[in-house]
Amino acid sequence: MDQIKIGRFIAACRKDAGFTQAVLAEKLGISDRAVSKWENGKSMPDSGIMLELCELLKINVNELLSGEKIMVESYDKRAEENLLAMRKEVEEKNRQLLKTEIWIGAPATFAGLIICVVAAYVEMPIWIRSALVVFSLVMILAVAFIAVGIEQKAGYYECQKCHDRHVPTYWQTNLAMHMGRTRYMKCPACGQYSWQKKVLTKE
Ligand SMILES: [Zn+2]
Repeated sequence: MDQIKIGRFIAACRKDAGFTQAVLAEKLGISDRAVSKWENGKSMPDSGIMLELCELLKINVNELLSGEKIMVESYDKRAEENLLAMRKEVEEKNRQLLKTEIWIGAPATFAGLIICVVAAYVEMPIWIRSALVVFSLVMILAVAFIAVGIEQKAGYYECQKCHDRHVPTYWQTNLAMHMGRTRYMKCPACGQYSWQKKVLTKE
């Protein structure tokens, strides 16, 4: 740490803030000799008042210790951290949605199949048999439609040709041939058909 540089920096920030040494000292509850010692590079502010000093000078501790304003670098880093946090949140939300798709889809499909098996093998009047089959087919279909809606909204599909990530329309998603969540669709960016993969984030 360069105490001389830090001292000059403190002096410059103090003047920018419009304080005399005496005023700054008073606000911090210390002697103005102490402030003068920092500014001449003879001593460093006590860690106990560093935060308060930074607040008064409108700088951060990082800047105080480096004796200069840290603009771009720290800003970028902060922005990057925020971006990462946001990205994680979106990813998590989409992951939950895709789980919901399975929670809704799997039991409904299973129940539908059981009803069909019962209708096929258990003795019952023909109209009940038909009603059960129709009911289970409608249920499976309805749930499939809901599930596709969830899948379409959660995250993006990535084109295998140009790697554009996009959200297709509901019907484009629903009518596309698919293997699991990979769907054969036309890419809105390059216009080519490919097996588009489900991805959770835009980038
Ligand atoms: Zn494409």
